[in-house]
Amino acid sequence: MAQVLTDRRDIDFVLYEQFDVEEYTRHEKFQDYNKKTFDLIIKEARNLAVKEILPTFAEGDREGVKFESGRVSVPACYHRPYQLLREGEWTAMIADPDLGGQGLPRCIAQAASEYMVGANYALTLYGYLGHAAGELIEYFGTDVQKKLFLKKMYTGQWSGTMQLTEPQAGSDVGALTTAAVKNPDGTYCLTGNKIFITAGDHDLTENIIHPVLARIEGAPPGTKGISLFLVPKIWVNDDGSLGEPNDIVCTGIEEKMGIHGSATCQLTLGGKGHCRGLLLGEENRGLQVMFHMMNAARLDVGFIGFVCGSAAYMYAVNYAKERLQGKDLEKLADPAAPQVPIIRHPDVRRMLMGMKTRTEGMRSLLYYVAGLFDRQTCSADKQEKAYLQGLIDLLTPLVKSYCTDRGFEICVEAMQVYGGYGYTRDYPIEQLLRDCKIASIYEGTNGIQAMDLLGRKLGMQQGAVFMNFLQEIQNTVAGAKKIPLLAELAGSVDDAANQLGEAALHLGKTAMSPGVRVAFAFAKPFLDAMGDVCMAWMHLWRAVEAVPQLEKRAGSLDAAARQVIDDRPGGLDFVWGIVLCHGEIISHAAQ
Ligand SMILES: Cc1cc2nc3c(=O)[nH]c(=O)nc-3n(C[C@H](O)[C@H](O)[C@H](O)COP(=O)(O)OP(=O)(O)OC[C@H]3O[C@@H](n4cnc5c(N)ncnc54)[C@H](O)[C@@H]3O)c2cc1C
Repeated sequence: MAQVLTDRRDIDFVLYEQFDVEEYTRHEKFQDYNKKTFDLIIKEARNLAVKEILPTFAEGDREGVKFESGRVSVPACYHRPYQLLREGEWTAMIADPDLGGQGLPRCIAQAASEYMVGANYALTLYGYLGHAAGELIEYFGTDVQKKLFLKKMYTGQWSGTMQLTEPQAGSDVGALTTAAVKNPDGTYCLTGNKIFITAGDHDLTENIIHPVLARIEGAPPGTKGISLFLVPKIWVNDDGSLGEPNDIVCTGIEEKMGIHGSATCQLTLGGKGHCRGLLLGEENRGLQVMFHMMNAARLDVGFIGFVCGSAAYMYAVNYAKERLQGKDLEKLADPAAPQVPIIRHPDVRRMLMGMKTRTEGMRSLLYYVAGLFDRQTCSADKQEKAYLQGLIDLLTPLVKSYCTDRGFEICVEAMQVYGGYGYTRDYPIEQLLRDCKIASIYEGTNGIQAMDLLGRKLGMQQGAVFMNFLQEIQNTVAGAKKIPLLAELAGSVDDAANQLGEAALHLGKTAMSPGVRVAFAFAKPFLDAMGDVCMAWMHLWRAVEAVPQLEKRAGSLDAAARQVIDDRPGGLDFVWGIVLCHGEIISHAAQ
């Protein structure tokens, strides 16, 4: 049976062959797990995704979110799978079991999410936001706040949001005007208007806990005077019971291009002067706290971009194997030659190869980054933890921007593979393409990510973090050079990494000079080139793991290499991957 949504073989390859995820089970935090339980969890996630979530994909899109008599309702078909997500403890897989999570390594949670998010991410966003907002409370909340909110948010009983955006404050978060005044009882009274708030109101959960950015009266202007507040939709009493509705009201929802099942809300806080909130963290340090959620969300949005692309590729490759059109190129003159599946046509194969290459390269990169978190969890060494954190910080804007752009491009290419049918609503590609687009815009536009990479991340620790990143590539290159088939490709990746280092140095210097505007005009192309180098690095790494195995299986390297031109879309695709990625690096360099 054809695989749907994602490629389980490739997930397993990345988890267990490229990265040794089983290794984490030696750590006490993950000691209750083993490969068998990991596999079972991924299988269960697939079952839930295919049987319960996927059927809501098109239905939720057609029905959309409704705003009637001041109430927001999600598509009716969302209620059952949301409850199943809760019952199966899928809403906070990496959270501590005592808090309602599964205590899973991030890599395994990501593998399970490939299926569930790929099936309908407009739906899974509701559960995701409860966990993501809950993490803010876990890391920065008081004991009382943790007791009141945490478990209910992690288990999906209550959901969450993130409230930054206002009409005049989009990318420019510091321009926000939502105000907070301290009440005698220590709570704060908030007034303001927020827009574009995902899951800002809905009927899936009995309560919603909103982390809201606002400025306390008299606080400094700009980002330095911003504080963060927890604003429950329904006030939560000291004993945890639900009190009166809070004065935070949805005034409308957006009519959007995609993710029609996700409620994007306009909210008025304190319209009647009674919106109460609790300070989270310290006064005027709200943005630093919120950055925890924003960074997590940036990685997760990058993951969404990848997942859309991955699902689009799977749909396209399955379709291409079944759609009959035209004759085999070598039999054009034969009037009796039968129609062949379009996957036989070189141009269709070119498209599929490009999609596969990007999908698999991104999968490796995303599991590499998830593994950095897992390695942090398993490490007791402060220095190692800091080293890993540096790599996470450096790669966060890259993952967000690169994976959302490439994911969208894969959706576009998938539509091309489908031909006219892809443009219709009878097939899932047009919706995937619509749903995917927003990922390059929210959570900090991709242009803002590129500025972050150039303006903040490249210079972290006087460039030491970026040098560590280049060294990580060199470690793979050194291993690849020992394998004759890969020596030349390893040299190409080596050259590309060196050129990237030179470009980074040049851009960094230019950014500190009167040419600063020129430097930032190249921030996004630089990010894309760095992403391409990451793809080449990841494909080389995959090849280092795959070549010895293929050689063993096929008997000789020649026999293995011949599989490249085999009819199957599988085989030694990594070679194509390297070539394609390297070709892109060259074209970037030439621009
Ligand atoms: C469906 C949807 C869901 C959303 N969900 C949420 C949510 O849950 N919570 C939330 O708080 N917000 C949310 N948003 C808001 C989203 O994060 C913003 O739309 C985004 O940050 C961009 O802000 P903006 O739309 O005001 O665009 P603008 O800030 O006006 O940007 C327009 C263009 O100018 C560029 N630009 C802006 N400033 C600069 C600069 N300084 N340098 C270089 N280029 C710049 C941008 O990159 C972009 O290309 C959502 C938006 C949508 C559409």
